[in-house]
Amino acid sequence: MRMPLVVGNWKMNTNVEQAVGLAKEVSDLTHAIDQVTKVICPPYVSLEPIKKALAGTKLHVGAQNLHPEPSGAFTGEVSVHMLSGLVEFAIVGHSERRNIFGESDDTVASKVIAAAAHKIRPIVCVGESTNQRDSGNAIDLVKQQLFASLNGCQDWTRLIVAYEPLWAIGTDKAASPEIAQEMMGSIRKAIVSKAGSRAGEALTLLYGGSVKSGNARSFFEQQDIDGALVGGSSLSAVEFSEIIKRAEHVD
Ligand code: PEP
Repeated sequence: MRMPLVVGNWKMNTNVEQAVGLAKEVSDLTHAIDQVTKVICPPYVSLEPIKKALAGTKLHVGAQNLHPEPSGAFTGEVSVHMLSGLVEFAIVGHSERRNIFGESDDTVASKVIAAAAHKIRPIVCVGESTNQRDSGNAIDLVKQQLFASLNGCQDWTRLIVAYEPLWAIGTDKAASPEIAQEMMGSIRKAIVSKAGSRAGEALTLLYGGSVKSGNARSFFEQQDIDGALVGGSSLSAVEFSEIIKRAEHVD
């Protein structure tokens, strides 16, 4: 049985003081919920202060990105080695990294391998564009993107995949639960074919794209959806906590 997982991606928002305040608020509002794994991914500069502020709580901290090399001449980057011990999760291949910063599937694959080697669970993001959806070929295209992003992956049992259709991110136009389930059921089947039923059963699948407290439960009720990757709504402690509550006790 997979534990539901709800992850908040704060993107490039909050200064350190605001970030620590928001983290504490989320922690307070959700402290009684222990049947959901709860993760926040603040900006890098706030990771350490938040980690200290959350010591002893059940709210986990993740990174929004990582550089796969342990150290070196990569100005402005934060390495997987620096994050090791500080975070338990890291988002890799978010569509903003792919589209704004030009990350290829190969780059994402190297980050997945590096994260696993440092005991950080990668949250691998995939999803199709509007044109790809309109082509009628979205499922095959997303599976291709996923397997290219997992090239060289050895540790299939700790994998988290977030299906985030580009047309649903930050648009207020979430995918229907049926569309999300169709895609995520296909992803799970493809992982079973590639890596076996144990990997398929262990795979945690998140839906991302305009998740709010009002629609969260309809996603969590789907057979292959284990949780959510939440952008905008994770910046409100109350709204994010309500989404986390919706992930509890889903049959
Ligand atoms: C995201 O950026 O990962 C995301 C899902 O954003 P939003 O929830 O705002 O659509």
